[in-house]
Amino acid sequence: MHNQIFNKINSSGLFEKDELELNKSRDLISEIVELKKELNAVILAHFYAGEEIIYSVADYASDSYDLALKARDFGAETIVLAGVKFMAETAKLVSPEARVLLPDINSGCSLAESVNVEMIAGARGKHPNAPVVTYMNTSAEIKAVSDVCVTSSNAFKILNKMSEKEIIFTPDRLMAINLQNEFNEKGIEKKLIYVGGACEVHEKFETKYIHTARKQYPDIEILSHPECPEQVICESDFSGSTSQIIDYAKKSKNKHFMVMTECGLVNQMKIELSDKKFITPCLICPHMKLNSLEKIRDVLKSPRAENIIEIDDEIRELALKPIERMFELAK
Ligand code: SF4
Repeated sequence: MHNQIFNKINSSGLFEKDELELNKSRDLISEIVELKKELNAVILAHFYAGEEIIYSVADYASDSYDLALKARDFGAETIVLAGVKFMAETAKLVSPEARVLLPDINSGCSLAESVNVEMIAGARGKHPNAPVVTYMNTSAEIKAVSDVCVTSSNAFKILNKMSEKEIIFTPDRLMAINLQNEFNEKGIEKKLIYVGGACEVHEKFETKYIHTARKQYPDIEILSHPECPEQVICESDFSGSTSQIIDYAKKSKNKHFMVMTECGLVNQMKIELSDKKFITPCLICPHMKLNSLEKIRDVLKSPRAENIIEIDDEIRELALKPIERMFELAK
């Protein structure tokens, strides 16, 4: 089975390893598979975590919304979250009985770090009637002071379902602008007040990439993540979450795409949709790439206290409410 996995990845030409390294990876994978059985553990991987993890040891790979659902529903005793810290925290929130492990405690997120509780309190003070809608890329403390959580796959749907016209949106400033544009275009009355920053990866996508691609491949379709800047979204053919981008490319009759999101997703699309051609400026999230087979093995074998996600009971109770509201509103 592992040979098949490596053949599949290698035949895609995505990376070539020398024999020594391949043997090391095979040994690591075997060790991880054994540890998973022993510990009744599952490995949930985000699409950006890297093919080496996704195609070898992950039980499930998806976007942050799906990973939260899987963490809730898998019923595993141990969950390893091959993603970033806020995802591991979300897994712990929805599955408190499980031991949730994060392979590298330094795997943060510029969005999650761009907002704090005082900023939310300040916005609430200025807009007392506006609910706080929080993108999943936040700490448990921020979720605890929020009314509803959203992900990129359901943000528009949930905001649209909410009766309030004025809404505080945190922490992604660029996604808030893109959502606001969508509401304006559709003639829906909503005013988003944003608090926070931007994704350090997606904010670097520029329209110059689109212009060059369109010149070279006139039939190309541009698929972008809503964390990208406004102008990129305006000039794209489709904007959606990572799962939605995959679905769009699968269903499209077109054969050529440029994908404006983290490079890891594009590498998987090249493997999964091998009858189609994908290009990308290939920007990489340094936090996601802190995950590795070695760290997954180590965290399963002998986790350090810092790798075990713990959330204060009071925070958990408060943070769970906006997540449950999201599950309800996303139906
Ligand atoms: S890609 Fe951006 S939003 Fe996603 S984890 Fe990395 S820094 Fe955070």
